[in-house]
Amino acid sequence: MPVLTGNEKKYLDNCIDTTYVSSVGAYVNRLEEMVSSATGSGCAVCTSSGTTGLHAALTAVGVGYGDLVVLPTFTFIASANAIRHCGAEPWLFDINPMTWCMDEKQVAQSLREECETLAGQNGKKVVMHSATGRRVAAIMPVYTLGNIPNMVKLRALAEQYGLPLIADAACAIGATFFNPSTGETEQLGQLADLSVLSFNGNKTITCGGGGAVIGRDEEQLSHVRHLTSTARVWPDYDFDEVGFNYRMTNIQAAVGVAQMERLGCFVERKREVRNWYRHSFAKLEDSAGIHVFPDTQGGSCWFSGIVLKEGYGLEQVKEVCSKLKDHGIEARPFWKPVHLQKPYSNSPVARKSISDDWRFVADTLWSRIITLPCSANITDWELDTVSRAVLEIL
Ligand SMILES: *Cc1c(COP(=O)(O)O)cnc(C)c1O
Repeated sequence: MPVLTGNEKKYLDNCIDTTYVSSVGAYVNRLEEMVSSATGSGCAVCTSSGTTGLHAALTAVGVGYGDLVVLPTFTFIASANAIRHCGAEPWLFDINPMTWCMDEKQVAQSLREECETLAGQNGKKVVMHSATGRRVAAIMPVYTLGNIPNMVKLRALAEQYGLPLIADAACAIGATFFNPSTGETEQLGQLADLSVLSFNGNKTITCGGGGAVIGRDEEQLSHVRHLTSTARVWPDYDFDEVGFNYRMTNIQAAVGVAQMERLGCFVERKREVRNWYRHSFAKLEDSAGIHVFPDTQGGSCWFSGIVLKEGYGLEQVKEVCSKLKDHGIEARPFWKPVHLQKPYSNSPVARKSISDDWRFVADTLWSRIITLPCSANITDWELDTVSRAVLEIL
């Protein structure tokens, strides 16, 4: 549930009063400054949604018709949709059970064993996926729950194969990355070539709907901006490529600015919620094999909840959710992997060609997940009520 008790109303009034309601306005600029400073990216381009931000980012790095993009199968469908919107296809990978993010070791293995790397023009490499004959055009990690995978390794792979690294950071605002090689903390906006945030209604920061593409390369970001604003060459009606109408409006940004003013306390509360559940359900871990969602150091804890023990599935999850509903508590299942979704049932799946007895962590994990209430304004009393109800039911 969004928390809109700050300056949202005041700033919205200002949009109406000044008639700046559309895609030009002071709030869009201000939001971009706030986002780039909060994520350490240096540059930000606000977009109409996370999905359109991903589409623009992938287009900007040259993902096009017939290409493959490395993607974890355990993600919200929008990650795969953005790839398809480019005319490309996701190449689906499993996740690491400790982070719920793409496993860089599997990406390394599949790039090595399932692809052929050829010499292209201008000394560039071309990575061809052997089974489909398609070009691999980008690597797209997803920061599940605001957890960050091993970006040191993924960056090294991207560099080794000459592939752009585009992060789906839709649910990760507030997260930082602990670099295990240097022992240093790295900011969200510095981890990939381009990263994409979402400000949808269910995210930590919302604009009603919206997103942002962030990155450090000013030139690349201005190309993204050009693409998101119909690729118009001002002041005439000249357009130098096929662009999109993906800009954010001043009305959306007004809400976003008010939200960003409270980013710190929203994220802090999200982390407290995770810790609360971790403590409350510690005893269930031994007795019932139930786990609280994993987190990475500096993760933003976007959603929190529990995972039922192995062998259980969607049926039991729905049963628990319905019992919680009787207590007046809203609990839900979570993402169903992309390779199990109808539009992607024929997308290539990594390692299938290496080993026949492959089995995805994501396959047996997703259907045991229950998300619990975790709004940034949840009270201790509510957390206590949820914890008691869960303990009683399980
Ligand atoms: C929310 C989300 C998106 C899509 O963002 P929208 O703003 O809803 O378009 C993409 N990927 C992930 C991982 C998300 O959680």
